[in-house]
Amino acid sequence: MKPLQLPSPAIIGQDARTVGTPALLLELDAFESNLRQMAALTARHNIVLRPHAKAHKSSAIAKAQIAMGAVGICCQKLSEAYPFVLAGIRDIHISNEFVGADKIAMAVNLAQHARLSVCVDHPSQVDALGKAAGQAGVVITVLPEVDIGQGRCGVDSKNSLLALADRIGTHSGLRFGGLQAYHGGIQHVGDWGSRKLKASHGADLTASYVQCLDSRGIACPVVTGGGTGTAEFDAASGVFTEIQPGSYIFMDGHYGENGWAGELRLQHSLFIATTIMSAAKPGQAVCDVGLKGVAVDSGLPLIRSDARHDSLRYVAANDEHGILHTDADGSHNLLGERLLLIPGHCDPTCNLYEQFVCIRNNIVEALWDIDARGLSR
Ligand code: PLP
Ligand code: MN
Repeated sequence: MKPLQLPSPAIIGQDARTVGTPALLLELDAFESNLRQMAALTARHNIVLRPHAKAHKSSAIAKAQIAMGAVGICCQKLSEAYPFVLAGIRDIHISNEFVGADKIAMAVNLAQHARLSVCVDHPSQVDALGKAAGQAGVVITVLPEVDIGQGRCGVDSKNSLLALADRIGTHSGLRFGGLQAYHGGIQHVGDWGSRKLKASHGADLTASYVQCLDSRGIACPVVTGGGTGTAEFDAASGVFTEIQPGSYIFMDGHYGENGWAGELRLQHSLFIATTIMSAAKPGQAVCDVGLKGVAVDSGLPLIRSDARHDSLRYVAANDEHGILHTDADGSHNLLGERLLLIPGHCDPTCNLYEQFVCIRNNIVEALWDIDARGLSR
């Protein structure tokens, strides 16, 4: 009798078309092209690339980004940073605010093992962190966040910013590092020209905060922000010294809807392999990827077009079922067919899987752990 053992999602060398579903596939040729394009963009504009690791949550991918010239990574959460630091990545920016003793303790602990920067938007965050950093004998770089239109975190007045900069200066365990300025709301403006215009407004507002600090004799060594949608504009702005795109490596379905009239030609590299496991009724088929296999907050998954499945549409996600409709005859014949889905939103989709099954020319080349999966403290 064989001992009870869950099979691995795939084995190296396996034909990718036989990998059990659901599986999160990463097409390495497209992924590497995306890596190269963003590295080239930032090099050309002589700015720093600090990719956002919340998109992939994988130290293997972070290492691939750093090997292509990224300086380090961003994390959105403190706990998320741990697997990366353990994997040897020692330059981490937490592009987010946090409060509470548990979080302060994590920040101090991370700062004992990595060059850490964090965001603040209230003096009490500065004081709590400064006190703990001072006691532990570590130095943490602090970047106040300014709200450049997102309407989420960040101060929206120059006086509040100056107050934060002054407060940071009162703590021996803190160092003022510059500004965090990210506008998520404009990343998916579909029209390229409108997106460019909105990005330039964001950069202008960011510049006005930099000038305000400058007029008080406070230099901003780092001005960081920007996502995949505005990367090319922020890189060329002359305002940002660093950009933090995350999704560019995958080019999810939502980003695929954007117009791309500039230099970036990002390709879809992330797919979910799914199997049609029921086709009992005409016009409908049911696949094995539902809400637990793909995030639908930014739209239902698209089906990668191929001649056999052109008429299929993914129309609804249940927990573990994906409902597909077709106008063509013969849906019964679809039983057992495999499809590739393009997820609408890469970040929460990757967070559902333990590994990327990395493929090239339809052969499994590697398995990469999603080692920060689920870490959202
Ligand atoms: N920076 C911050 C602060 C973010 O919240 C995000 C994503 O939401 C990003 C960068 C990366 O954005 P994207 O994945 O759209 O490139
Ligand atoms: Mn996202």
